[in-house]
Amino acid sequence: MLDAIRTVPRHFFVPDHLEAAAYNDHPLPIGHHQTISQPYIVAYMTELLKVAPDHRVLEIGTGSGYQAAVLSKLAKEVYTIEIVPELARNAAETLKTLGYANVQVRAGDGYAGWPEKAPFARIMVTAAPERIPQPLIDQLAPGGLLVIPVGERNDTQWMTIVEKTATGVVQRKTIPVAFVPFTRKP
Ligand code: SAH
Repeated sequence: MLDAIRTVPRHFFVPDHLEAAAYNDHPLPIGHHQTISQPYIVAYMTELLKVAPDHRVLEIGTGSGYQAAVLSKLAKEVYTIEIVPELARNAAETLKTLGYANVQVRAGDGYAGWPEKAPFARIMVTAAPERIPQPLIDQLAPGGLLVIPVGERNDTQWMTIVEKTATGVVQRKTIPVAFVPFTRKP
């Protein structure tokens, strides 16, 4: 996991004028009121997700594409959805330029997941909804894990792990976090 973080050049995923700050441990603005998550949180979520080389992974909230690039080092395929079309376009361009060939970017509302490619062994959400979108739970493979920050507006968000077991769905909260809101297409 640390190898994946070490080998992805984070400075290519931040705006040019912030390049010097790319490796500081805090989030940075990427335009459209969105941020690239701080390196600690990227590492933490990646670790919680326990990705294996044969996994197909879905990410909701592509943003800069940085987290998708880290996941692509660990997984077989990464599918990532971004609701702001310009960010989706930029991220796809960056990922292509840097040669992350096993990542597919789609512009759209990630609430519905990516049914054509489901089920996924792993799903990561990098924006915080008030409740976990049911379609994402539905698109989780048996034995699958979903890592997602969840919180009511103005209330603490909790990083949450959802595991789909043979008998049902188990949820566990880990640490309090602060993510941009999960938005919906109007
Ligand atoms: N993983 C990103 C950080 C993303 S910030 C990175 O590595 O840079 C969260 C992103 O989620 C924002 O870009 C925001 O536009 C996006 N987002 C919010 N709601 C969404 C939704 N419903 N579907 C898809 N993307 C969404």
